Order: sequence, then C-alpha cells, then structure tokens
Amino acid sequence: MDLSERQEKIIEIVKENGPITGEKIAEQLHLSRATLRPDLAILTMAGFLDARPRVGYFYTGKTGSELLTEKVKQLKVRHFQSVPVVVKESDTVYDAVSAMFLGDVGTLFVVNDVNCLSGVLSRKDLLRTSIGNQDINSLPVHITMTRMPNITICKPDDLLIESAKLLIDRQIDSLPVVKDTADGLQPVGRITKTNITKAFVELILE
Ligand code: ADP
Repeated sequence: MDLSERQEKIIEIVKENGPITGEKIAEQLHLSRATLRPDLAILTMAGFLDARPRVGYFYTGKTGSELLTEKVKQLKVRHFQSVPVVVKESDTVYDAVSAMFLGDVGTLFVVNDVNCLSGVLSRKDLLRTSIGNQDINSLPVHITMTRMPNITICKPDDLLIESAKLLIDRQIDSLPVVKDTADGLQPVGRITKTNITKAFVELILE
C-alpha cells in the first residue's frame, strides 16, 4: 500500500509521541482535525495505527509487508475457488475435449461411479492423445488421465497461499478442492492460477 507524504508524517508523529490524540497530531501538522480524519481512518484500517477511546492513536509497529502477510494469511481456498468441471472415467476423450470447451476450463477432474476423484485431465493430456492417431470417440479418459493417488489436492479451509505454492512447486495449472467422504475425495471446487491472480489483484486494489 502506497502512503501519502502526509500519512507518512502522521506515522512518524505517532511513533514518537503515541499515544496521542487526533487533535494533537493535527496541531503538529498545522491542519484541522477534520482534514486529518480520512488519513487517520485509512492508517487505522490498514493496521499501521491503532486507536483507543480516550487514549488516542498509537503505532502498531507493523511494517507494510507484515500487514500484507497478515492479510494473505487470511485468504482461504473456499473464498476464491471456482466450480469444478468433471467427467466420468468411462467418458471418451472426445467427450472430455467437448467438456473442456463447454466448461471454458483448462483442467477437468475425473470422477468414479460414486462421484469421487479418480483423475485429472489437462489440455496437454488431451492434445497428446488426440494427435496420437487414436480414435478419440472410443478411447475412455482413464487411459490418459493422471490418476490417484498422484493427484495434488487442497481443501476449502487451506490457505490460498499454500495452494499457490503447490501450483508452482508441482508445475501444474490447477488443484481440485475436495471434501472427505466415506467413499473417497469428492471434488467441490477448483483452484487455478486465475484464482490466485484474482486474489492478488483484490488484495492490492482493496
Ligand atoms: P498442461 O499440461 O495443459 O500444461 P498442467 O501443467 O496443469 O496443464 O498439467 C501437466 C500434467 O500434470 C498433466 O499430465 C496433468 O494431468 C497433470 N496434473 C494437472 N493437475 C494436476 C494435479 N492437481 N495433480 C496431479 N497432476 C496434475
């Protein structure tokens, strides 16, 4: 977060003199209390300053990057996940290509008879099979998918930053968000690089 020159000055004053009232800060800056009100509100909301009734403002001691880290750690997968697009193990590669176009996604999740995760299909998985001179109308997706237990997953309550790290470390574009059921892991969402980008933009523009 970029602070204005005046906001930087306010922080300095509070650092040296806190706890200090709004009136006293205004006096030092030769400004009215009303002029200062929006700046004090921003600095308090952003976490640089804390305000106690009848005591005044004091400096929290947190740097901009510490405050950003705190905010990032509040972002959970459940708040950013998208809807998963799934196909059945017995569906053909042709069906999967259609589902990918219709669902406007880059990764499909494959489910078994009890709707639990059994595989993942990426764009390249389908391309590889499609250019392999095989009849994609009769070839079932389970031939080409990456299968359990080799699938990297996440849960709705996981930190978004942990999922982002998995996408980078494993060099993949998407993670199924799953919930535990008696039958296995049921896909309830999907986290992609787009979700992470959205979270990043939201955080900065907030
Ligand atoms: P693309 O291959 O289209 O660039 P990815 O990088 O996501 O897309 O996929 C690379 C490989 O990793 C593919 O073979 C895919 O099946 C597999 N894959 C994709 N997502 C996962 C995941 N969450 N867990 C395990 N393997 C995955």
